[in-house]
Amino acid sequence: MNNEQASPAVAAAAWTPGQVNFADVIVPLALNRLLTYSIPAALGYRVAVGKRVTVPVGKKSYTGLIRHIHCHPPENYAVKDLLAVLDDCPSVTEIQLLHWEQLAEYYLCSMGEVMKAALPNGLRTAFRPLTETYVRLHPSISSEEELHGCLDTLKRAAKQEALLLSYFSFVEEPDFAHPHEVPKKQLLQGVQTAAALSACVKKNILELVTRETGRLDLSAAASKAAPVLSVAQQQACDEINALFRKKNVVLLHGVTASGKTEVYINLIAEQLRLGRQALYLLPEIALTTQIIDRLQSVFGNIVGVYHSKYNNNERAEIYHAVPSPYRIILGVRSSLFLPFDNLGLIIVDEEHETSYKQYDPAPRYHARDAAIMLAQLHRASVLLGTATPSIESYYNASAGKYGLVTLAERYHHVQPPAIAIVNVVRERKRKKMHGLLSQSLLDAIGEALGRNEQVILFQNRRGYSPFVQCAECGHIPRCTQCSVSLTYHKRGNVLLCHYCGTSQPLLTVCPECKSANIQTKGFGTERMEDELQLFFPQARIARLDLDAARAKHAYSRILGNFAQRRIDILVGTQMVTKGLDFEHVSLAGVLNADALLNFPDFRAHERSFHLMMQVSGRAGRKDKQGSVIIQTMQPDNPVIHLVQEADYNGFFNLQLHERKEFHFPPYSRLVSVTLRHRQPDTLQQAAETLRHLLAPTLQQRLTGPFQPVVNRIQDRYLACFWVRLERDANARPLKHFLMEQLAALHQLPGLSGVETSVDVDPM
Ligand code: ADP
Ligand code: ZN
Ligand code: ZN
Repeated sequence: MNNEQASPAVAAAAWTPGQVNFADVIVPLALNRLLTYSIPAALGYRVAVGKRVTVPVGKKSYTGLIRHIHCHPPENYAVKDLLAVLDDCPSVTEIQLLHWEQLAEYYLCSMGEVMKAALPNGLRTAFRPLTETYVRLHPSISSEEELHGCLDTLKRAAKQEALLLSYFSFVEEPDFAHPHEVPKKQLLQGVQTAAALSACVKKNILELVTRETGRLDLSAAASKAAPVLSVAQQQACDEINALFRKKNVVLLHGVTASGKTEVYINLIAEQLRLGRQALYLLPEIALTTQIIDRLQSVFGNIVGVYHSKYNNNERAEIYHAVPSPYRIILGVRSSLFLPFDNLGLIIVDEEHETSYKQYDPAPRYHARDAAIMLAQLHRASVLLGTATPSIESYYNASAGKYGLVTLAERYHHVQPPAIAIVNVVRERKRKKMHGLLSQSLLDAIGEALGRNEQVILFQNRRGYSPFVQCAECGHIPRCTQCSVSLTYHKRGNVLLCHYCGTSQPLLTVCPECKSANIQTKGFGTERMEDELQLFFPQARIARLDLDAARAKHAYSRILGNFAQRRIDILVGTQMVTKGLDFEHVSLAGVLNADALLNFPDFRAHERSFHLMMQVSGRAGRKDKQGSVIIQTMQPDNPVIHLVQEADYNGFFNLQLHERKEFHFPPYSRLVSVTLRHRQPDTLQQAAETLRHLLAPTLQQRLTGPFQPVVNRIQDRYLACFWVRLERDANARPLKHFLMEQLAALHQLPGLSGVETSVDVDPM
């Protein structure tokens, strides 16, 4: 497809004077069809496909988007007028609309739901420049001495002094010629008062400047040439380019530290030479920081970054800037919805990551697969990169559907880490376990610290202990809304439900037997942090998990401290396993591999393998060999062996065998259906009814209803079904049948209140 088709001016049909004209409009609701409106003559000259409009639905009005313009009045309802046209130019291109349609069709949701995910809320109607006020040091202060003089004069104005100090907390090194500008909002965020700021401005200590923002920071300039590739990297690049002539998708299986990023940079540079755009997808915001720097140093200010931590205005700004000036977009899954005009390449980095899947709300899309659909529309290529390919992608590669390129050599021939397995059962018998820490692991940590090296430890549970229990009667406090035990968090001394978020103070007496003997059970990251401190009182220990990273910037602060070696041991959940690259980490540990392996899910082994391989990748880069310790009660589990051997192919074959036996993906396409209701009886009735509706047609493809492991969340009971569809043309009509039956279920007396959700390719 060429540029013209992708450009905004795509109105296939326009308003024609003298005829009754209609527009089919996408409305932001879970409706399985578009709504048709008549176009009043006064708006006729403004309507076009891809423009946003205001339309009435029932008694409300919504912002919708025009999909088609035609002259066929709707047959079964009285047509209403469009109320307003909001855009001067279309907000979305024809290619975007086609992509939305594919997603809605494949993921069984409405166009309105896709639209809600795709368009940033702040999309402007008429653009008026945004401004932001910044605070900087007054130009009259031009040296350290003068600054100290100022601080002395503020000795009796505590708030002003605090404000000035807080300004400097944003400044790495004062540069009096070009004083650092701190956004006023940010500076005043804490306890600072606006009065203190006005006072400092009056005294010529600080000054305010207003800047027009385009928040787009277009100041970064390219400072480095593209990297010179190693022989192996160059070969991989050549193979990829050769394969792109034959296949839309190529999988790059490159071991950790093989320099995949350098290969990506090279391929992106090639696209720019051809005048095309590149999209670089990452599974999580957290991973973007390291890559932004690397891309900007090579490509400068044509790199745009897009993710959900940006506010609506910022996102809208980038949305509008994609056709230009940005030629490279780095972002998380939602950046697939930007209006690319000439996309040549999509890189899906860490393609195996399950966080590429949107879990809730619909569209429950997988960014990797959505990227492949988008690339087809643009005639662009897709590169999937990872050290541990997903079973699906590797299967597609070995079946010849995707190209496959392997990069088995680490850059600079860094040695792969030595992986040791600790048999927790045996160690316990020998009295060599201290809680969750084996003596071997403690020794290894001690040695690493002694050599002034850093340690990363992975534990899959956050909080202090996964549950607490009365030592007298065995009572375990549970959530009143969900069927799970409450996790104890020492921070705040609360019991917290990890499903609905409700919390209550830690019990002091058992509600059942009044005993005061309440014990914490199991090990979360908080507790590991405490226990490690007992063994290594001198060590600087930090924790990285959802709780620790909740505060704004906390994540990058912790990683920054770790990178600058202000932390010796970093203990955390999977956040510590991601593709982060620290030079001085010589030891990585998995505290409890069993919690991963025993998870009741057909992907548990795949996820365990990925996670353990990722953890291993953290240890020892550059010139020294790292070591990895995995603690497990099942040292003979084949997955553990394959991790130890770093044997991806062995793992793939093992998994494929299991998946085939139980007819799981990639041997089928899985669709999961969940029903929810407050009343267990109503839910059961709905589940049985649905089974009767589905089973005659779906036959052995249908499993369920069954209760999920956690069968009640936020006061709603859950019942699930699985539908295993063939990977062929049969799937489509059966998916439609499924949706029809769900709609039929809602029509039945007493069942309209049952919530249903559908997840295609659940993770
Ligand atoms: P991967 O993503 O495959 O784990 P990286 O791209 O992070 O590997 O590369 C690992 C390290 O090796 C990084 O520090 C990177 O800067 C360095 N490196 C890789 N290839 C090159 C190259 N061709 N020139 C210079 N440095 C390289
Ligand atoms: Zn009790
Ligand atoms: Zn709960």
